[in-house]
Amino acid sequence: MYDPETSCYFCDKPLGDLDDDLIGFDYLHKEITGEKLYGFGDTVVHRSCMSNWDKVDLFIEMWNKALSEYFLNKQLIKNKNGMIDYNQSEYWAINWSEKVQDINNRARIKREEVKNQKQEILELKIKEAINRAISLNLANSQNVMSVLYNMDVNTYKQKFGDLNISRIHFK
Ligand SMILES: [Zn+2]
Repeated sequence: MYDPETSCYFCDKPLGDLDDDLIGFDYLHKEITGEKLYGFGDTVVHRSCMSNWDKVDLFIEMWNKALSEYFLNKQLIKNKNGMIDYNQSEYWAINWSEKVQDINNRARIKREEVKNQKQEILELKIKEAINRAISLNLANSQNVMSVLYNMDVNTYKQKFGDLNISRIHFK
């Protein structure tokens, strides 16, 4: 997926829609590619422009090293016309190397931490709002608790009596 109007990194002209003159790059994590190559992840460029780039051989070497952390046998090559290309696609297989799994695990843990923090902040705010409503006599604790428990006030009273707001757990 790419936009044909997007400029080619090398010549600055629109990519166009001639598939044969385009080559795309997988997203590879910057811990593996390094900052310099990171910008190529998830992009498309003109195959001819890149093939004529004076640093193409070095790029192929560095990108292949990173690519091998993600795929078995998927490598960039120069084909017989001197154009940058991928090797035989029937042998590619996804390969979550230990390095990639480690990156993914750390990202997942981080996401969970952020989610838990947001949840905690939200709970505190809800409790503060409830306490404020009660202190302003806009509601009594049984009113708000019955909303939280999806019950009408009378059912709530029968079930819990005057359960204190500080004892609510939202999870
Ligand atoms: Zn170009």
